[in-house]
Amino acid sequence: MEQHEMLLLKLGEVVLKGLNRRSFEDRLVSNVRRRLKNCGSFQIYLRQSTIYAEPAVDNCDMDAAYAAAQQVFGVVSVARAVPCDKTIEAIVETAKRYLAGVFAHARSFKVESKRADKAYRLNSIQISQAVGGGLAEAFPHVPVDVHHPDLTVFVEIREKYAYVHAPAVPGAGGLPVGTGGHAVSLLSGGLDSPVASWMMARRGVELEMVHFVSPPYTSQQAQDKVLELARLLTAYCGRLRVHIVPFTEIQEQIRKNCPEEYFTLIMRRFMMRLSEAVARRAGAKALITGESLGQVASQTMMALGVTEDVTSMPVLRPLIGMDKVEIIHTAQRIGTYDTSILPYEDCCTVFTPRHPATRPGIEEVRRAEAVLDVEALTAKSLEGESWIWVKP
Ligand code: ATP
Ligand code: MG
Repeated sequence: MEQHEMLLLKLGEVVLKGLNRRSFEDRLVSNVRRRLKNCGSFQIYLRQSTIYAEPAVDNCDMDAAYAAAQQVFGVVSVARAVPCDKTIEAIVETAKRYLAGVFAHARSFKVESKRADKAYRLNSIQISQAVGGGLAEAFPHVPVDVHHPDLTVFVEIREKYAYVHAPAVPGAGGLPVGTGGHAVSLLSGGLDSPVASWMMARRGVELEMVHFVSPPYTSQQAQDKVLELARLLTAYCGRLRVHIVPFTEIQEQIRKNCPEEYFTLIMRRFMMRLSEAVARRAGAKALITGESLGQVASQTMMALGVTEDVTSMPVLRPLIGMDKVEIIHTAQRIGTYDTSILPYEDCCTVFTPRHPATRPGIEEVRRAEAVLDVEALTAKSLEGESWIWVKP
């Protein structure tokens, strides 16, 4: 009896979670369900630290589901597999047919077996030997090599069926989104903030994005670029809300009234205040930025202190100790790089001081800012806030 091909998703750190394990698992299963919905109708369930995604209908897009499963946080590996009867004959027949393409190119192979059904009449070594023998006969040009095989054929004996699968590919790792709290991520169009957002989502944080716009100094294209970056992140986090916050008047007031060397710092303080307000409304408990120590004048240690001065929320900076090349590699790996490098002006790049302060004192910046009506400016900006839901 032949069953449909299916996906096996192995759980990562979730399995270490002790008492919380159930809620972590439930969240992961529901995240997987939501993400595979676009690929067809699947039956998705969890058994023994593995999530099974089984097509419920014939027209499921298995390639798309396979790719989507690799982007779900909390999953360490993904394999395509095919179930069959639990007899050695059926397993060998299934492996022969299912893996014929892989065997055609393999230089050597071995069989690795696992037996979740402890009542099964053979132990895992015996299963591997029996299946390996059958496959060696079927593919005489591919020798067995138990130490450095080119191809490893996995066999798992579970409750109802045996499963045959080829080597698993790595999953996205981390923890299921939604298990690590809820935070507001400051998303610019640059390289850094999408990577920072991705890194925190990978630790299970549910994200809410905020983006500051300064029309007419910043363009519609710049905003669309940010929405596209958010859309790329939805492959990992599911749908995202992007808050668009008007920033023009604040920037103009800063330029008109404050010393040039502090333009960027004062602007960043406003961003923190506004983001915190957005976070409080949304019930989020922390802010996330793409800052990296020493990358620019506004990211020196003293500058970070000046920025953080205006918020009482934790500011998470996952890139703080990363080099630019590492950040670029991550951006390439997660798929945000090509969009990030599109050349549209962000509000950070308009009104940049020629000689920004790199060792600013909190007191001087507070004084420089005191000429502004901070409360009125933030209130007005928040009034103009709108949001857009971005879907996968
Ligand atoms: P990025 O590559 O993320 O733009 P950056 O190195 O260019 O970062 P800055 O432009 O100084 O650094 O911004 C520092 C951080 O402030 C960004 O990583 C982002 O989290 C936030 N930020 C900057 N501009 C905006 C914006 N227009 N909207 C929302 N957040 C912003
Ligand atoms: Mg930037």
